[in-house]
Amino acid sequence: MDYLPIFIDLRGRRCLVVGGGEVAARKTDLLLQAGAAVQAVAPALGPGMQALVDDGRIGHRDGRFHEPDLDGTQLVIAASDDRAVNARVAELADSRGVPVNVVDDPALCRFIMPAIVDRSPVLAAVSTGGASPVLARLIRGRLEALIPAAFGRLAALAGEFREQVRRRIADPTQRRMFWERVLAGPIAEMIYAGRDADARQSLTQALDDNHDARVATGEVYLVGAGPGDPDMLTFRALRLMQQADVVVHDRLVSRRVLDLTRRDAPRIYAGKKRADHALPQESINALLVRLAREGKRVLRLKGGDPFIFGRGGEEIETLAGEGIPFQVVPGITAAAGCAAYAGIPLTHRDHAQSCVFVTGHLKDGTVTLDWEHLTQPRQTIVIYMGLVGLPIICRELIDHGMAGDTPAALVEQGTTEVQRVFTATVATLPESVAQADVHAPTLIIIGSVVRLREKLDWFETAAGRQASLDPQFRIDDPK
Ligand code: SAH
Repeated sequence: MDYLPIFIDLRGRRCLVVGGGEVAARKTDLLLQAGAAVQAVAPALGPGMQALVDDGRIGHRDGRFHEPDLDGTQLVIAASDDRAVNARVAELADSRGVPVNVVDDPALCRFIMPAIVDRSPVLAAVSTGGASPVLARLIRGRLEALIPAAFGRLAALAGEFREQVRRRIADPTQRRMFWERVLAGPIAEMIYAGRDADARQSLTQALDDNHDARVATGEVYLVGAGPGDPDMLTFRALRLMQQADVVVHDRLVSRRVLDLTRRDAPRIYAGKKRADHALPQESINALLVRLAREGKRVLRLKGGDPFIFGRGGEEIETLAGEGIPFQVVPGITAAAGCAAYAGIPLTHRDHAQSCVFVTGHLKDGTVTLDWEHLTQPRQTIVIYMGLVGLPIICRELIDHGMAGDTPAALVEQGTTEVQRVFTATVATLPESVAQADVHAPTLIIIGSVVRLREKLDWFETAAGRQASLDPQFRIDDPK
């Protein structure tokens, strides 16, 4: 993060604007909206600034900037059309510890001004760190569409009741749940419909009802986070991610996905490394039960889909047994995500009429799979957890009659910016993978559909490969 976004209270505070042109007028206008006491210094004023002076809304010193202008100033905007003057303002302000913004000169800025959506008291601010103000405005445009005008009134209503609710509902979790029911339920709808008085009355009523309510039991959301790319989340997953009180995640959930969970929700890592079982399955089950019993909404976040090699079934069996409410949100499983991003359709009328998902996880150094079934023609095999067992798997397939030249691919860190795809044959894949420095998670796809990649690859030839190889994009799977 290059900048810390903050919202600053400037009511009644002296702010200095250096310059008298149109840009200065626009910035001054913003400062006035925030209630600042604006003092301008400029040898000449354009019509915008002149009007503000004439209306007595700002002070003005006629002349060039000099250091004493900074006395008693909380914030400075340098908007003159002389770069040297702006630079001097910036230097002096900075040496006094007064935050300074220099229009169109990010290098001299101590703070920058975002594009804003104003639904006061709701404010959304967007910044691209100065990289692209146009992009910031495009994003703001989308937010404008997304944030109903009535949000301001809804927030104002919430502000009005905030103290009262705090006094009546002491427990922070209970209180948050109360507010979520209010802000995402019928009361909010009343505000949107312009029935503010009804909303106020219903809120009072809800507060009375909630007052004696017993501690609610929590709930567990078993959510599939998809294979890595955050764009692959479902709307439902995202909504629950943003409302859960606590997050229990495993190692396959990418950092970028995890960053979309509620900021203040504690994250508990329940990853299962091969050697070092961070939390054995039984304690994960027990943990989910305990957290839900505390009244929390627990997000159990899993890579891919929770019901595909995800032990999701085992976890909710325990919950069901304990009478704890839960919901299951499907995710895009690695097979679907990796196949799409590698340009390998898993079925195709000319190649494969069926597709099987198997685990290549080794037990006692061997892989036990139904080899006869797997070597049937016209099907695609997708192998999860197959990196370590790859040589054994390929040998067994060939031993059971699969042609050695059957196309095979391995997708590493599928759907992420660092995705790599190795294509070879069943006979040669283990060797080509051994020569590369491959990191789990990896998915293996075997069958003639792999050949289609030559024509259908789109991700790595396009944006993906050009993206940085920044390690933050990696899924940290220690396998
Ligand atoms: N529930 C998950 C699978 C968990 S098993 C799902 O539906 O996808 C873990 C295995 O999934 C890994 O060993 C790997 O084979 C596969 N996998 C998960 N994410 C992957 C990714 N981004 N790229 C490649 N393989 C992945």
